[in-house]
Amino acid sequence: MNPAHWLVRTARRLPDTPALFTGTRADADYAAFARHAAAIGAGLRARGIAKGDRVALFMGNATAYLGILYGIWWIGAAAVPINGKLHPREAAWIIGNSGARLCFTDAKSDDSLRDHLPTGADTLSIHDAAFETLRATPPIGAPVSLDTSDLAWLFYTSGTTGRPKGVQITCGNIAAMCFSYFVDVDDVRPEDAILYAAPMSHGAGLYNFMHVLRGARHVVPDSGAFDAGEILDLAPRIGPVSMFAAPTMVRRLVDRARATGSTGDGLRTIVYAGGPMYEADILEAVEVMGPRFVQIYGQGECPMGITALPRAAVADRGHPRWRERLNSVGTAQAAVEVAILDADGSPLPPDTEGEIAVRGATVMAGYWQNPEATAKTLRDAWLWTGDMGHMDAEGYVTLKDRSKDVIISGGTNIYPREVEEVLLSHPAVHEAAVVGEPDPEWGETVVAFLTCHEGQTVTEAALDTLCLDRIARFKRPKRYVFVAELPKNNYGKVLKTALREMLGEERRG
Ligand code: ATP
Repeated sequence: MNPAHWLVRTARRLPDTPALFTGTRADADYAAFARHAAAIGAGLRARGIAKGDRVALFMGNATAYLGILYGIWWIGAAAVPINGKLHPREAAWIIGNSGARLCFTDAKSDDSLRDHLPTGADTLSIHDAAFETLRATPPIGAPVSLDTSDLAWLFYTSGTTGRPKGVQITCGNIAAMCFSYFVDVDDVRPEDAILYAAPMSHGAGLYNFMHVLRGARHVVPDSGAFDAGEILDLAPRIGPVSMFAAPTMVRRLVDRARATGSTGDGLRTIVYAGGPMYEADILEAVEVMGPRFVQIYGQGECPMGITALPRAAVADRGHPRWRERLNSVGTAQAAVEVAILDADGSPLPPDTEGEIAVRGATVMAGYWQNPEATAKTLRDAWLWTGDMGHMDAEGYVTLKDRSKDVIISGGTNIYPREVEEVLLSHPAVHEAAVVGEPDPEWGETVVAFLTCHEGQTVTEAALDTLCLDRIARFKRPKRYVFVAELPKNNYGKVLKTALREMLGEERRG
């Protein structure tokens, strides 16, 4: 069950097949990819790292990322992928919490991270001669055997709901994730390529496994990051391409495609997830780029693995329930069961709102050394997602909001996403984030934070009219706050906690 065995298997079958690319430049075929991984494994072992240990990666996207990951698994250690955009202090906290003894970086100088590192932990930059020495260590034999319950990927939550927690993803979770991907998202063929346009430290990196299994190509854009123009230019030259994109990335891709007359040639599948994709945006995406979009719903605790909405459901306008489906996150993926539970853990009937819960083979093994948080989240055999929603009789799940973001005003639930979607339909509004503010009379009232497109403005009266036209009167914001920028975390998600704190500070004067 060791993912490194999958690499060995493909390298035996397709040794000369090009595997790793930076832009259009081939960096390694599958034989070289496996050799590098074996050498890195040997180098790690020579440093005293063994099965069960953790090794961190604090770096941006690069083909070396994959060699390192498989080198870590070769010896049965677990990878701790850290978002390369975090502050070194935050990265060091994760390294300390995970107990990783070594952290790979792409820094030209590691001083900023070293200053914060716990004792006993070390760094190794991929630009250092020592990395080349490590990569040149005479490879060891076959990867060690691992069980389905062995830890492979220790991923830290982004912390929008508190301090990051280490999510333990096992080898079994990863195998189940591949199964779900092949069944519910897409087939992968040897002629395909995966483009890492989103951070490999996050969900996008987890899609490497399916492509290793099938002997497909792994492409890191030259910029190493998300650049809509670069992707549209690169895709026809390396296609057929699959890629993961957060909704903001899809919007940028579509804007760029529209502006340049591109229809997304070379892009086969764009998997989107991570936040709400509003109806107008997905319709525009399909209009401009065609039926290339598959939505999934997942979270760190069940990575890429809760539900999926296939491209046909998005594109098939003739279906009687097309609009509801378009606004849903699809049905349970093959490796899990999904239920809507009430506060006591009893399943609710169709179309009734409650908390979304999931159980099955892609659900994490628990939080790293955090039994309290694990007990709160994994209860009665379910992973409680913290997301509110409902499910129809055919199993389509509609996500309303995170439970902690729901506003309760006058005893009635208001889902911020619904209000945000209305505000975003105004052409001048660029971004909208709606939160609750404590109110002595109503419990909470609705406050909208907004940014406008450059050079554009909108009056509160116009927004009020728009809301009155589209949603119940009690849901409309009592207050509009125009800001230059919304506070976001490193994955681009709006930090509603920070907005609520801003309101709190304002009240305290
Ligand atoms: P933390 O767990 O630290 O608070 P986070 O909320 O950013 O961080 P992630 O695991 O990054 O956690 O994101 C998962 C959340 O993103 C889900 O619980 C859900 O609220 C939202 N999400 C994921 N996929 C979708 C989707 N397709 N549509 C709408 N929202 C989604």
